[in-house]
Amino acid sequence: MIRLTNLKLALDHNEDALKNIIMSTLKIRGEQLLDFSVFRRGIDARKKSNILLLYTIDVKTTDEEALLSKFSDNQSIRLTPDMAYKFVSKAPQELASRPVVIGFGPCGLFVGLVLAQMGFKPIILDRGKEVRERTKDTFSFWRKRTLNTESNVQFGEGGAGTFSDGKLYSQVKDKKHYGRKVLDEFVKAGAPEEILYVSKPHIGTFKLVTMVEKMRAMIIELGGEIRFSARVDDLDIVDGKIKGLTLSNGDKIISDHIALAIGQDRASTIINR
Ligand SMILES: Cc1cc2nc3c(=O)[nH]c(=O)nc-3n(C[C@H](O)[C@H](O)[C@H](O)COP(=O)(O)OP(=O)(O)OC[C@H]3O[C@@H](n4cnc5c(N)ncnc54)[C@H](O)[C@@H]3O)c2cc1C
Repeated sequence: MIRLTNLKLALDHNEDALKNIIMSTLKIRGEQLLDFSVFRRGIDARKKSNILLLYTIDVKTTDEEALLSKFSDNQSIRLTPDMAYKFVSKAPQELASRPVVIGFGPCGLFVGLVLAQMGFKPIILDRGKEVRERTKDTFSFWRKRTLNTESNVQFGEGGAGTFSDGKLYSQVKDKKHYGRKVLDEFVKAGAPEEILYVSKPHIGTFKLVTMVEKMRAMIIELGGEIRFSARVDDLDIVDGKIKGLTLSNGDKIISDHIALAIGQDRASTIINR
């Protein structure tokens, strides 16, 4: 695919305008243009009297190599980078022990999902409840001021921010396209497709609840397991390595691979308990 950057169009452009600007930029005819998709759409508002949409487009043509060579001096016409997510490993047929993820907020959710996709059948623990139950508890606090210390706006399936409008932009440079994997998974779970290309994507108020449920279902389908109301109170650390954990009900889980995804600066809430 060929990536075209800095394509400018009027705010109210019609459907054909994109196709036309691609053909004129690459100097190709309609039959040479096989397909295209919007990679990013931003706004150029530097001139208040002439605000424009700024597109980055990935184009499939019949003559990719020839065109790339013809426009080799043009920085706005380049080969589309490979953005596919590369799994770092694949689980062996026989799993010696299952990895454990503590916390089922955004971090734990993606750790769990990627481990499940690699075949590792993770066990995921969260101190809070599943998201529908958690929603009831959170609304009960907002309306009646009854606080459930384990199930609230901070704790439970989906983590902090589950009851927000899900703004997805950050200042992080994403040279390895990890963010793309996150956005792709969100779209699979029901987020609007435009999050893939608008410059300041957001999912929309309360959509996260259904999406989190779908992602949980994907993890379970791949052999993962999510245990709610499972607060980790202690970690067994041997020679500087975490070897196991103890839950608030006294149950112990032993694993060589335990990931802490309990939110920023919260590790001490387990270790120093
Ligand atoms: C109201 C609100 C709105 C927000 N809106 C946005 C937004 O629009 N866009 C954005 O990018 N960010 C937003 N954020 C910030 C965002 O939610 C956080 O950056 C993000 O949730 C951090 O993810 P995390 O998985 O690291 O931690 P968390 O989301 O905090 O998840 C940690 C999970 O670990 C569990 N846990 C904690 N301790 C234990 C334990 N001992 N045992 C077992 N489980 C445990 C918790 O129950 C929780 O589910 C918002 C935050 C809030 C509070």
